Amino acid sequence: MLKKFNYHSHSLYCDGKDTMEDMVLSAIERGMHYFGISSHSPICFESKVALKKERVEEYLLQAKALKQKYRDKINLFISMEMDYITSMQENIRQMSKDYDLDYFIGSVHFVKGKTNDKIWFIDGSNREVYDRGLEEVFAGDIRQGVETYFEQVINMVKNQRPDVVGHFDKIKMHNNERFFSQKDKWFEDLMMQTLDTIKESGSICEINTRGIYKKRCDDFYPGRDWIKKALEMKIPLTISTDCHKKDEVDLLFDDAIEYLKQIGERYVWYFDGEWKAQKII
Ligand SMILES: [Zn+2]
Ligand SMILES: [Zn+2]
Repeated sequence: MLKKFNYHSHSLYCDGKDTMEDMVLSAIERGMHYFGISSHSPICFESKVALKKERVEEYLLQAKALKQKYRDKINLFISMEMDYITSMQENIRQMSKDYDLDYFIGSVHFVKGKTNDKIWFIDGSNREVYDRGLEEVFAGDIRQGVETYFEQVINMVKNQRPDVVGHFDKIKMHNNERFFSQKDKWFEDLMMQTLDTIKESGSICEINTRGIYKKRCDDFYPGRDWIKKALEMKIPLTISTDCHKKDEVDLLFDDAIEYLKQIGERYVWYFDGEWKAQKII
């Protein structure tokens, strides 16, 4: 029997919609064996999505208390989804050490301008924010914006070696094939360079299901073709739902497993104090 897991979850401590305890209870109800609590890390500017610096201690204490309280029911791990932002927040491995996290996810949501100090927020529910940011930070030059995004992702992977690389092609979500096509050679080259860097770093790559169940995207992050490519390269893959509500804790987990089986993969990676491969057949 496959032991279910999800190491990417949010709660009211950041932009999630349910309490940390309700998220944990939902994971228990759904028979999950391993669950990671991974609030958005604090960042150096005002943001509604991030955990506030002054609440970090409380966050860690609360997570520890739940780990203890439910230790007979589920294996809980304490983490954060760390934001890597060029020249503003780069030392995310050290941050995760300082917070004594079990593992950390490295993600890019905020792209710093090349020639200015402005920030392009590429995530969230609002497509206009993406379009406006592209205009303000990169004067509407999508190629420069996307290249800068990947440069940030690649530097993060190379210099910080996150345990898990979060949704590394999220830049495609709000684009929705409008400004560029995922089949454009330059885009495919950037995806390939990112995979090469992940391979070299030894980081785990997540298959993130959120885009599909939120109906913001018709594929996983990264997309199915890239998952295939990652497996050919023997990059370790885990599955996360990036849940922000209690009914999202295992959404499309089984679909991701099914896809892996379909393309002939026999293993998926999970964490029980260290990262290991688990048979899926
Ligand atoms: Zn994220
Ligand atoms: Zn997330």
